[in-house]
Amino acid sequence: MPQETQPSSPIYPTYNRADLAFERGQGVWLETRDGRRFMDCAGGVAVNALGHAHPHLVQALKDQAEKVWHVSNLFEIPGQRRLAERLCGASFADKVFFTNSGAEALECAIKTARRYHYVNGAPERTTILTFEGAFHGRTLATISAGGQAKYLEGFGPKLPGFKQLRFGDHDALRLAIAEPDVAAVLIEPIQGEGGIRPVPPQCLTGLRELCDERGVLLIYDEVQTGIGRTGRFYAYQHSGAAPDILASAKGIGGGFPLGACLATEACASAMTAGTHGSTYGGNPLAMAVGNAVLDIVLEDGFLDKVRDTAILFKQSLASLTDRCPDVVQEVRGQGLLIGLKAVVPNGDLVAAFREAGLLSVPAGDNVVRILPPLIITPEEVREAMDRIETGVASLSAESRRQKSA
Ligand SMILES: *Cc1c(COP(=O)(O)O)cnc(C)c1O
Repeated sequence: MPQETQPSSPIYPTYNRADLAFERGQGVWLETRDGRRFMDCAGGVAVNALGHAHPHLVQALKDQAEKVWHVSNLFEIPGQRRLAERLCGASFADKVFFTNSGAEALECAIKTARRYHYVNGAPERTTILTFEGAFHGRTLATISAGGQAKYLEGFGPKLPGFKQLRFGDHDALRLAIAEPDVAAVLIEPIQGEGGIRPVPPQCLTGLRELCDERGVLLIYDEVQTGIGRTGRFYAYQHSGAAPDILASAKGIGGGFPLGACLATEACASAMTAGTHGSTYGGNPLAMAVGNAVLDIVLEDGFLDKVRDTAILFKQSLASLTDRCPDVVQEVRGQGLLIGLKAVVPNGDLVAAFREAGLLSVPAGDNVVRILPPLIITPEEVREAMDRIETGVASLSAESRRQKSA
């Protein structure tokens, strides 16, 4: 097994990696070379929306691989038009720009918002309002947008043009948005890395009204919440408050690097020829897989099933927090974007789950994220719960006392 955490590794030491290397996957399962099997509720951090080795995705990738991989955006790419039409058909958007990642989708969103004001006679509108605890990516602009000290430290001055507000501080928002230099408000409908912290639907509606009053654009970062993760195609659709611009990635490629910036006609028309670009963005391989993901996620009844499975999972977890309040205290999130607020350090809980054969992801606010593939079945949820219960019990003084009694 590769020892990627060893000091001699030729890899940048930017990640604390678990000492596990997977050889293959199937649906919700991942398997190591030596045959150990894990239930994957990390999902490559909300990326593997359809699990591992989904036959429809594998076929789409293979078919395209034998035709053409890459041609650049100097030529027509029919798969882009088809995927863009379907994304627009399933959302508020009129136009799409394709990228390879979430951070790049955000970069496009930020540029689009500023450029919109620039072409509409308000070039001074450049400031993007964001919220504490937000995560928008790791490029210089997106760490400045997120504003978290731990991601900014040592990388020079934070870029100007971003202002963080306290999460849920409506008065601060009302004051800040009245400034004449504000271009847009950027917000995750549910903070992912920040600890699965949802914005109440009525707040999104209020935010939309406030933006309209002030001529400010509304940008949603749905990189983690999009493509059915919360039981709607995009999470904002639970509230009905549509944005002007939306960044999408993660689940959109089901594991193939793909992102997209969606926008209204009014915003996208500001991005004229030559104003933005990407060498790889929207290449034929990515488009083949992206379209294959949508074949499944947009199927009639698919999202209903996600919502049903999510209810089962959440109820089972809620019962666990009742039984073991010394380890877990709250279940958060929407659909299959699930957060388990830990009482013990969240890293200990992730390790205990791994020990019990289930992979999960830590998040801020001492939360553990449970992000199963959207295709997880009720039987698999029950099996996941067995492993989660085993993990929790191993950390619960209560359950140890009961056993020894
Ligand atoms: C993961 C994530 C990003 C960054 O996406 P990358 O593909 O890693 O660049 C941005 N915003 C949110 C909400 C995310 O969860």
